[in-house]
Amino acid sequence: MSDNKTDILIIGGGIAGCIAAISLVDTHHVTLVDKLSQPKERIGESLAPAANRILDELGLLKEIENHSPPIFKQNLGMQSYWGSDQLQIVDHMRNPDGFVKSLDRKAFEVYLRKVVEDRGVNCFWGSALYASSYEDSCWEIKLRSVVDESTDQQISAEFVIDASGRQSHFARSIGVKRQVEDKLLACWITLPNVQENTMSTISSSSNGWWYSSVVPNGKRVMAFHTDSDLIEKSALKTAQSFIDLAKENEQMKMLLNEAKSAMEFHGTTAANSTKLEQVAGKQWVAIGDAAVSFDPLSSQGMFNAMASAMQLQRLINEFGFADEVSKHYTNQVEQIWAHYLKHRSLFYGAERRWKSEFWERRL
Ligand SMILES: Cc1cc2nc3c(=O)[nH]c(=O)nc-3n(C[C@H](O)[C@H](O)[C@H](O)COP(=O)(O)OP(=O)(O)OC[C@H]3O[C@@H](n4cnc5c(N)ncnc54)[C@H](O)[C@@H]3O)c2cc1C
Repeated sequence: MSDNKTDILIIGGGIAGCIAAISLVDTHHVTLVDKLSQPKERIGESLAPAANRILDELGLLKEIENHSPPIFKQNLGMQSYWGSDQLQIVDHMRNPDGFVKSLDRKAFEVYLRKVVEDRGVNCFWGSALYASSYEDSCWEIKLRSVVDESTDQQISAEFVIDASGRQSHFARSIGVKRQVEDKLLACWITLPNVQENTMSTISSSSNGWWYSSVVPNGKRVMAFHTDSDLIEKSALKTAQSFIDLAKENEQMKMLLNEAKSAMEFHGTTAANSTKLEQVAGKQWVAIGDAAVSFDPLSSQGMFNAMASAMQLQRLINEFGFADEVSKHYTNQVEQIWAHYLKHRSLFYGAERRWKSEFWERRL
């Protein structure tokens, strides 16, 4: 098959896109495109233990566990201050799938991209989806280089997977809208870690909640989550304003005080719960965040990205590119979304100390 014709075109080479490519390349000609030439630094690093099963099935788990330099740090569990001042601990000691992996997210994505290339996927890094149309039972996709905007590439694909994250560029390009549940955003920093304890910490506050976790390379991530319309923009504009806010929370203050050297301020990113109104259609499917994006409180986004890619692979292997894929996949996503909304409600409902707009919206 030429570079311009493919069985499956995947738009987005993040976790969902790479896992889909790796799982499908033995049975199909797969092309993967990502607008980034290289993965970038991102928050979102606690990988649920259940993901080990998928990584093992694809022959990646041992390589990841033995990777040098390390891609992850073992995370013993979660300590939370939620619903009361009492510390609550959920450890992973008895989890049959093992511990949470606190990933160096960028290194993990660099690793996945390498596996994708080694296993024979046709890759276009630094190319963004530009236009799409359905002609003669195929998708005609135009890509534009982000390096040299004048360079276009046309690819004809029998099936398209939208793995472009919460922007869901392909689905949006064909007119599918996104259902938005809330206005949550996250503001985050990285700082040197000086604690032995590798548990993550969650702590609620009057107008949102805090999260901190240890990641590889001696670093710690710290993030504040609130609704975009409830916080003064200036409070999350600089490292200093973030630190001032963090000092108002007892647990974060402790972690900040022990940091000896400079912090890196990463600004804000969308963290709200959203879902495509239609997650699949004629010869296309959206996976990972492109289909549904979760509140980071769930720590399930990356696992869902992998699991949705594997669900799709099974359906394609059973039904080819027939309409049954879209029907079964849509049912599966609807069930996951219903479960997710129920759990989100239960989690937020467990915190009743704060009388503020942020918490009232969630009760
Ligand atoms: C604050 C925060 C904290 C989080 N914490 C956790 C956590 O602890 N644990 C967890 O499991 N999850 C967490 N998540 C969620 C997790 O980060 C996402 O669920 C996960 O990244 C989804 O992966 P994905 O591959 O679907 O999408 P993405 O990782 O967003 O990948 C999409 C890819 O598509 C590419 N792309 C986009 N548009 C185009 C285009 N037009 N053309 C070509 N390529 C394109 C992008 O460059 C990107 O590489 C968190 C999220 C947030 C916001």
